[in-house]
Amino acid sequence: MKAHDGMYIDGEWRPAAGTDAIAVVNPADEQVIAQVPAGTADDVDAAVRAARGALPAWAATPPAERAARITALRDVLVARKDEIAETVTAELGSPLKLSQAVHVGAPIAVAGSYAELAASYAFEEKVGNSTVHLEPVGVVGAITPWNYPLHQIVAKVAPALAAGCTVVLKPAEDTPLTAQLFAEAVHEAGVPAGVFNLVTGLGPVAGQALAGHEGVDLVSFTGSTAVGRQIGATAGAAVKRVALELGGKSANVILPSADLAKAVNVGVANVMSNSGQTCSAWTRMLVHDSQYDEAVALAAEAAAKYGERIGPVVNAKQQQRVRSYIEKGVAEGARLVAGGPEAPRDQGYFVSPTVFADVTPEMTIAQEEIFGPVLSILRYEDESDALRIANGTVYGLAGAVWAGEATEAVAFARRLDTGQVDINGGRFNPLAPFGGYKQSGVGRELGSHGLSEYLQTKSLQF
Ligand code: NAP
Ligand code: MG
Repeated sequence: MKAHDGMYIDGEWRPAAGTDAIAVVNPADEQVIAQVPAGTADDVDAAVRAARGALPAWAATPPAERAARITALRDVLVARKDEIAETVTAELGSPLKLSQAVHVGAPIAVAGSYAELAASYAFEEKVGNSTVHLEPVGVVGAITPWNYPLHQIVAKVAPALAAGCTVVLKPAEDTPLTAQLFAEAVHEAGVPAGVFNLVTGLGPVAGQALAGHEGVDLVSFTGSTAVGRQIGATAGAAVKRVALELGGKSANVILPSADLAKAVNVGVANVMSNSGQTCSAWTRMLVHDSQYDEAVALAAEAAAKYGERIGPVVNAKQQQRVRSYIEKGVAEGARLVAGGPEAPRDQGYFVSPTVFADVTPEMTIAQEEIFGPVLSILRYEDESDALRIANGTVYGLAGAVWAGEATEAVAFARRLDTGQVDINGGRFNPLAPFGGYKQSGVGRELGSHGLSEYLQTKSLQF
């Protein structure tokens, strides 16, 4: 795997300030595939200076020209899609088909949506005797996780560029090669020097330096709630804007009128896809008492089919973390009906697709984000019980409701404390706002709501 040994700053690959490196490991076979530099506060500082220097010209670039650069970026991602998919598979471990369809397909769609939005968005509006200008927030510090390595980068960088902001990206240490490919694509697309900058490195070093840098106007972070809380506090102290996309423990509520087999099968697929490393995954399945045993049997059967197809989790630490959650589930009295804590293969960070029945709402596996292929099936007595259980965590990122009629599912969905709900298996929409209620985050990504995170208003009165 080809890797750059520098940082992409001010339109060129520059040597890193320090000498530390990060070894990139393929989680499917535990082999080191590349080394990238571990950035320091000095690299972050150089990148922020470049972003600040490029800001006035980029902010003043007509939206149609910004749109043209984002279109060009989308086109490079399309042209290089096989190489990107192979890179995601090599460093994340996701099966190649998933990498092609989702890890590359989604960011291409999102980049395309922001090319269109940049060209069509009303950056100026009239309110009574005022003209309101929507101006870029400034320099964005983007910090992204590894679970959808390209999507999470594009979901921040594309709207930032559309808004007229400049960016410094600190990607996850586990997936820096995808980020380097993205930087190459930005360069090929003719985005001016300094508008986008990449600093690879460790969270507590490069990430922290970026989040706390006084030259950054907005910190946009996706990752764990623990780190998000810290970044929010740092940004608050500096009176800096912040967008946080954090964890989830979403509920898949199957109402008695639903097509049970379909709801269970789609629900299991939703959790097992990407080896359960999806913040919006429906990791709690809620089933009515009268259908509980049937649902459990269907879910166990569906999970068993994933045994051969599932990829590894991202690293050894994550594998250990997921396995200890499975052990905790057993210890707290839940019933294993598929999978378990034993590693299914000798090599690679694999976890068996796991399903727990007899999970009660207060159990750890019903409350905490596991981030692995683990589904908890809970029982409810009636609708109000289902609603209480569904809303009974600190999170509120996503969810699903299934019913015979969409209207019944919608009525239930409106009472969920969560940012997005799929009705009877509704499809992902790259234009719909994505983000959380409660501790799942602050702010929204994607579509016009995602764009407005990168804008601030200036009102002129006449
Ligand atoms: P994380 O530590 O929150 O990582 C997210 C990003 O923040 C990475 O780029 C990380 O760098 C960086 N970071 C870490 N500490 C930082 C700090 N003190 N200041 C600034 N940036 C910092 O998440 P993780 O360790 O990869 O995963 C842990 C858990 O987080 C998972 O098990 C899962 O529950 C949750 N998670 C949620 C999402 C989501 O989409 N909401 C995504 C990933 C993980 P490094 O890569 O160097 O750590
Ligand atoms: Mg981390």
